[in-house]
Amino acid sequence: MAVEVNVARVWPAARLAKQDMVGSPETRVARPSKGASVSLRHLSKHYGKSIAVDAIDLEIAAGEFVTFLGPSGSGKTTTLSMIAGFTPVSSGQILLGNQPIEMLPPYRRDIGMVFQSYSLFPHMTVAENVAFPLRRRGVSKAEIKSRVGRVLDLIQLGDKGGRYPRELSGGQQQRVALARAIVFEPQLLLMDEPLGALDKKLREQMQLEIRRLHKELAITFVFVTHDQEEALVMSDRIAVFEQGRLAQVGTPGDLYERPRSLFVADFLGDSNILKGTAAVQGGEWRLGSPCGTFIAGAVEPGMVDGASAAITVRPEQLRIHANGAPCAAQDVNQVDGRVSQIVYLGASRKVEVSLSDGSRLHVREQAREQSALHEGAAVRVSWAAACTTLLSCGNRSSVKTAG
Ligand code: ADP
Ligand code: MG
Repeated sequence: MAVEVNVARVWPAARLAKQDMVGSPETRVARPSKGASVSLRHLSKHYGKSIAVDAIDLEIAAGEFVTFLGPSGSGKTTTLSMIAGFTPVSSGQILLGNQPIEMLPPYRRDIGMVFQSYSLFPHMTVAENVAFPLRRRGVSKAEIKSRVGRVLDLIQLGDKGGRYPRELSGGQQQRVALARAIVFEPQLLLMDEPLGALDKKLREQMQLEIRRLHKELAITFVFVTHDQEEALVMSDRIAVFEQGRLAQVGTPGDLYERPRSLFVADFLGDSNILKGTAAVQGGEWRLGSPCGTFIAGAVEPGMVDGASAAITVRPEQLRIHANGAPCAAQDVNQVDGRVSQIVYLGASRKVEVSLSDGSRLHVREQAREQSALHEGAAVRVSWAAACTTLLSCGNRSSVKTAG
């Protein structure tokens, strides 16, 4: 069920370029033609003594697609809800396009919001649901009719305007919620785990659809998920939440290739983690561990000689050698072990290698490279320093500012 998004038809350039006339000037924030930038400045939310969001600083550029990623309870929804205006801030500031908005009620912020639970009005038809934000803004009946029609066409539900939410599938209901959130042409769209209730296939379709919508609307999107794959697929940048703080902010590539803490390395994608003690020699950082010494090409800022630490390296960076086959010259890191498991994944396979101290490495091999490995085989695993990152163990490390 591929959905063609034709925004040019819905919102012609001339419309996007002029100031929106919806609502009286005193009831809304002035709006540039496209998305607005968002600044979170030392934003906090306390519930009694517990801290849900802890002095977050984040700059989101106009038109950017930023995803809040983190485990349950890390503060994603609370942060989104403070931006939307449903949760009052405890301290700090929220700027939308350089204007402070944290004191404004939600309806004056000019922000669209989509929740995981579709939150459609059950007693209203699809068209009435989508018309709701426009009616509240005092848009004329004729204008409402034409805008609702256009936005329903945009999400390919043009023929379902007369239906009630209960007569639609979950995916269709979520699209109606999306239509209702963008029909008044907000400068910022917030989405809180909007695809969480959909099955895998539909979720993947909706991910692509939302990305396309973002490209064509050219407004700012902030998307919340606890699913790291979804975050990697969808975002310009990802803000990783850890216990109410930002563990790291960066592009999917940055976070995947250069995690700045063990938490981020572990949370985002598959990681091999070997623990030991950090040592520096002639400017080169190493990890001393029971299975050997490994050289790291990148190191967490503030690392100290002798600290309890770990190296991380991604499974696709490891090479596996059987029967004394030679390692590539750049593979300065080498360790011997035994194949403990081989898992076929279609185009690739995952080989688990157990090391002498009981730790395990996961190696991902492309199908075309597959050799005649078997479980129990003695092998050598090798990898380059350049794909090895040395991170500290123990103390939570947090960067507070957007990268
Ligand atoms: P996430 O969306 O990342 O799962 P939340 O932002 O919902 O996390 O929650 C962050 C923390 O704030 C959690 O510890 C949660 O229990 C707490 N929290 C959220 N809302 C409330 C509330 N209304 N009262 C008290 N604590 C809350
Ligand atoms: Mg949440």
